[in-house]
Amino acid sequence: MKSSNNDFKGLATKAIRTGYEMSQEQEHSEAMFLTSSFRFNSAEQAAARFSHEEEGNIYSRFTNPTVKLFIDRLTAMEGGEAGVATGSGMSAILSTCLGIMQTGDHMVSSCSIFGTTSVLFNKYLKRLGIETSFVGLSNIEQWEQAIQANTKILFLETPSNPLTEIADLTALSKLAKKHHCLLVVDNCFCTPILQRPLEWGADIVIHSATKYLDGQGRCLGGAVIGSEKIVGEDVFGFLRSAGPSLSPFNAWVFAKALDTLKIRMHAHSQNARELATWLEQQPQIKRVYYPGLRSHPQYQLACQQHDDTGGILSFELDGGKPQAWKFINATQMLSITANLGDAKSTITHPMSTTHGRLSPEERERAGISDSLVRISVGLEDIADIQADVALGLQAL
Ligand SMILES: *Cc1c(COP(=O)(O)O)cnc(C)c1O
Repeated sequence: MKSSNNDFKGLATKAIRTGYEMSQEQEHSEAMFLTSSFRFNSAEQAAARFSHEEEGNIYSRFTNPTVKLFIDRLTAMEGGEAGVATGSGMSAILSTCLGIMQTGDHMVSSCSIFGTTSVLFNKYLKRLGIETSFVGLSNIEQWEQAIQANTKILFLETPSNPLTEIADLTALSKLAKKHHCLLVVDNCFCTPILQRPLEWGADIVIHSATKYLDGQGRCLGGAVIGSEKIVGEDVFGFLRSAGPSLSPFNAWVFAKALDTLKIRMHAHSQNARELATWLEQQPQIKRVYYPGLRSHPQYQLACQQHDDTGGILSFELDGGKPQAWKFINATQMLSITANLGDAKSTITHPMSTTHGRLSPEERERAGISDSLVRISVGLEDIADIQADVALGLQAL
């Protein structure tokens, strides 16, 4: 086997070359290991693998070469020591929480997080006696006031979904260190191409690989990246025992998708910037939320923390839910779906879909108005995307 030099500098090289090892077949494209278990040469070797005296594959719930290939590449890109791949983004969040916390522990979370993540915290973790306090993403004082003696985790997404609010990661990581908590960042919207939270002092990065890492809407998956102790031991230990593992097939799709992640993320950003700039000039649009616009209240912070501005934007129309639905229904090419981070542009009404399980008060706190529309700007030609969005505007 030709082993790889894993000391690459650039993100694209890390994504394409990390962990590249041919088998004796000398295949150029990475092989896929669709096997649930691995054979040992002897009973002695089996015992040595199980007792960790010898490193190597045992069983695909927790050791599989294709899953390892994907997670090693993503871990190298994020700049982490250890990574764990999971079957979905939600199971990455669950594995992190249960790998680190126990009954009686407390967490502070941004209120502007993925709807299902709020439900996980508010309903299921609460049942286990793990309480969560919710705060405004960019209000540092609220974060500090919410921290208790038993707080273990500060949890956030940045930019937030769908309003693209930005967290000051430097300030929050200082706060986490001061109070001996772990700063956990869901980096799904940016991917390591646009933002690497560990470089800003975060302790753990979480991904839903289902979104941009795949980029073509094919597979579900997730990842957790951080230190050897916390992720390599605590989160990995939970994965090994509870089993929310990533399928090797999905891992192979993600590993190959990483090859094009850098060019895709910049192309998504370019299209989204053009669409956001154009939308801002349309009289029927009350407000556009996009970190690449100078009108974004945190434009300066976005410029510092991000290498590019990303593919998600949202906007408020004049009117309420009926107007938003009319707009969405008048588009023809954009896919009406809750998914995001796809080569195909998608359009969503957050209030009645992704954020529909929040109470009206929770929605109000998260700033999700009835007329808000979110677009995940894809990789089609910008002229076609813009022409389709114009159909929505004409219907108003
Ligand atoms: C989709 C999403 C998740 C959940 O990921 P799944 O792969 O669907 O389980 C978590 N966080 C964010 C920000 C997401 O967009």
